[in-house]
Amino acid sequence: MIPYGRQNINDSDINAVINVLKSDYLTQGPVVPKFEKAIAEKVNVKRAVAVNSATAALHIAALSLGLSKGDILWTTPITFVASANCALYCGATVDFVDIDPQTYNMSAAALEIKLRHAYEAGKLPKIIVPVHMGGQSPDMEKIQALANLYGVKIIEDASHAIGAEYKGKPVGSCFHSDITIFSFHPVKIITTAEGGVATTCDDILADKMKLLRSHGITRDTVLMDEPSHGPWYYQQLELGFNYRMTEMQAALGCTQLTRLEEFVDRRNELAEIYDTLLEQLPVSQPKRDLDARSSFHLYIVRLLSKNSGIHRQVFEELRAAGIGVNVHYIPVHLQPFYRAMGFKNGDFPEAENYYKQAISLPLYPAMSMSDLNQVVCSLEQSLKKHNC
Ligand SMILES: *Cc1c(COP(=O)(O)O)cnc(C)c1O
Repeated sequence: MIPYGRQNINDSDINAVINVLKSDYLTQGPVVPKFEKAIAEKVNVKRAVAVNSATAALHIAALSLGLSKGDILWTTPITFVASANCALYCGATVDFVDIDPQTYNMSAAALEIKLRHAYEAGKLPKIIVPVHMGGQSPDMEKIQALANLYGVKIIEDASHAIGAEYKGKPVGSCFHSDITIFSFHPVKIITTAEGGVATTCDDILADKMKLLRSHGITRDTVLMDEPSHGPWYYQQLELGFNYRMTEMQAALGCTQLTRLEEFVDRRNELAEIYDTLLEQLPVSQPKRDLDARSSFHLYIVRLLSKNSGIHRQVFEELRAAGIGVNVHYIPVHLQPFYRAMGFKNGDFPEAENYYKQAISLPLYPAMSMSDLNQVVCSLEQSLKKHNC
């Protein structure tokens, strides 16, 4: 089976983890801060706060921006459920903005209309969460201009996009947002097994997120409301969580990060080969934004056949041929949990049409030319079988 994604672990990754296991600290030692510094330098941002998943990063990012009961968060329906769930963790409600049918990112045009209506109805969201779908940046300049106009905060869900660029700046620099989050799940660009990070240019937000990741507890006497009782003393100032990343994870993250460019270059190279090989097939290829460089977490094609029934058949035939295709994503608003809140079929037509046609082809740095040819041949055969 050719998987749709796979981590790339070498001896230096393995040795880094072993060295931590032989050291004094397995958690709360020097490696997490070292990893945070390395991330901040890599994406050119002031602060980075490492946590045990991108889901945790989304949660503390939303909390640090003050999201709570009565507030609203908007994201896109074509994302992993975590981008929406983070609002519910804070007691807020969720709504969605339909996608751009070319890029599969949140449509800035749809956002503009929806914000105007929300403003008129007095129901503006507090936060919007655009997602860097497949590794390509949304139209952040336009989204930021709209957010500024209506006083809305932005969290970029860049789970797919470490190593990507937008208008000459690394994604994660927060030039167009309050906070950016990355995921280090093994299928993503670099991995810490489980893990995530939130980046920001704002010290207050970063300190708040650090507090929330560790029970809301501080040992900083400046923040305490009475003099320290002694060297053992700490105070709990907020209701926080245990969202800490371990030292082993951070060590793996440090060595993985040194190969970020290599991974992203290779992914872009493979994507270009896919483009060429797929040219003659009735599928649409990922659209490139000239202002952005994708990290190519995913290579997504849309089947152009008028017969939407073939999507599932082609998918199943590819799987049967040993090709680990996938679908990213089932529209979040159509999950039973979200339908129970009143969302329904027809609410976000572009997202729903996309879902009927999209297939993610395998893409990972160690993929060989023969793997890639096998994927394209299998796809071609399956499409021919259905007279496409
Ligand atoms: C993977 C992913 C997440 C969640 O990441 P975890 O690290 O697994 O919590 C959130 N949003 C998007 C878009 C993702 O792809």
